Amino acid sequence: MDSSFKEGDNLLPDYDVIIIGAGIFGLATGNYILEEDPSINLLIIDKNSGPGMGNTAKSAAAFRVYFTSNTNFILANSSIDFYLDIQKKGIDLDIQMVGYLWLESEKDYDSKVDLLKEIRRRGVEVKEYNTSELRKILNINIEVSNTEFGKLLGLHDVYRGLFVPKAGFLSPDKLVNYYFNNVKRCGGQFLFNNEVVEILLEPPDKLGVPGEPFPWQDKVARGVRLASGTTISSNNVIVAAGAWTPLLLDKIGIDAHIKPKKRQIFSIKAVTDELRRLLLIKEFNGIGMPFTILPKPRIYIRPEFGEGAFWISYSDDIGRPFEFDEDPIPEEDFYINGIYQILINYFPQFLDLMPHSMWAGYYAYSTIDKQPVIFSNAGIIVVTGGSGSGIMKGDAIGRIAAALYFEKKYAELYGGYRFDTTALGFENRNIERERFVL
Ligand SMILES: Cc1cc2nc3c(=O)[nH]c(=O)nc-3n(C[C@H](O)[C@H](O)[C@H](O)COP(=O)(O)OP(=O)(O)OC[C@H]3O[C@@H](n4cnc5c(N)ncnc54)[C@H](O)[C@@H]3O)c2cc1C
Repeated sequence: MDSSFKEGDNLLPDYDVIIIGAGIFGLATGNYILEEDPSINLLIIDKNSGPGMGNTAKSAAAFRVYFTSNTNFILANSSIDFYLDIQKKGIDLDIQMVGYLWLESEKDYDSKVDLLKEIRRRGVEVKEYNTSELRKILNINIEVSNTEFGKLLGLHDVYRGLFVPKAGFLSPDKLVNYYFNNVKRCGGQFLFNNEVVEILLEPPDKLGVPGEPFPWQDKVARGVRLASGTTISSNNVIVAAGAWTPLLLDKIGIDAHIKPKKRQIFSIKAVTDELRRLLLIKEFNGIGMPFTILPKPRIYIRPEFGEGAFWISYSDDIGRPFEFDEDPIPEEDFYINGIYQILINYFPQFLDLMPHSMWAGYYAYSTIDKQPVIFSNAGIIVVTGGSGSGIMKGDAIGRIAAALYFEKKYAELYGGYRFDTTALGFENRNIERERFVL
């Protein structure tokens, strides 16, 4: 494919930087580039009609500092501290510090003893709840492995609750608006309703003869072509296209090691007294039900106080294809056969209730380790791989991608962490295995 400019191309003005994608990663990256140098002429392009309407809008927007990988801990902890700080300064992000409650089987709890020591050593508080406390507070079935269904489904008894207070959820729309307004205030421009169909490549040192770029010439990004045919030139293209990233990069031969994995959320209204009580239990955090994760299979329940509902999800893996649909449809069957049967064994409060709404989106999944990806190649910076934790790491990711743009060796993250800007790339990838992936 010929990915170069052509004679007669309809060019919009040059930009110093073009960012493809106005999701949390593209916005945070643009924000930190302009914060460092507001004279930069920066354009963010998105095919949607406004910012944050891709998978950022589909998110449960939950956050936690509870990771086995120290890198993930740093990315999340610094971002969460930043979000808490700006909220304290008057920018309402609707943060609800409900905490995460991991319900553990005995086997899983035992396998975590050393990990827990390490996590606590970092200063992360993890409170333990025994079965009688959990039963009393949550009205949950602790012993499920020996019931007829428990045996059939291979369910595990609850043995311990691990409660992480520094965790909760926020409003992704409000977070998006914070970065969006900042970028605008610093002079960044936006082009919505426009799809980039091609990243244009040219030799860094053009010979000026017809037919360039020749196969033997080096090639670097020199702009983008929109679906309308218009081209926009820039020597710096940042791809923050989330799950769409391979669609842009595969055709120019750059592998971001990203694939889309469908993820779904089912919302169950708290229509009974029992469910209303569960939603508003105060014992853990003084607010309401924590973000609660069942023993394997790790179904999660995220309270949604505004709607008076529970958002319920499960991240299935093997058997779920890496398929991509521009507008993915949620599967009610997935709730009925994949979630409901298990959920009601632990929480019979959900018996006979079906979702009143549901939606589906995609994790941008790094096929290497499910962790974020930030690298630079051929004048293109790629920032993606948010998987199921892009919101909670968004601020740190934006700072790292911006530092890479300025060719810095280290990014300064909020809270004083220094982060190697090549650590999330492929040549020097340096991120520990993560055991707590949702
Ligand atoms: C169901 C679900 C639940 C989740 N829950 C959580 C959670 O609880 N906590 C958490 O931290 N994370 C969660 N996530 C993950 C989180 O939402 C993502 O990691 C994060 O939003 C990724 O941001 P992004 O900017 O990389 O991608 P996106 O928000 O998808 O942004 C990419 C943007 O690029 C645009 N784009 C793509 N291609 C083009 C093109 N060719 N031309 C123009 N524009 C283009 C898209 O329109 C889109 O707006 C969840 C995700 C899903 C799907």
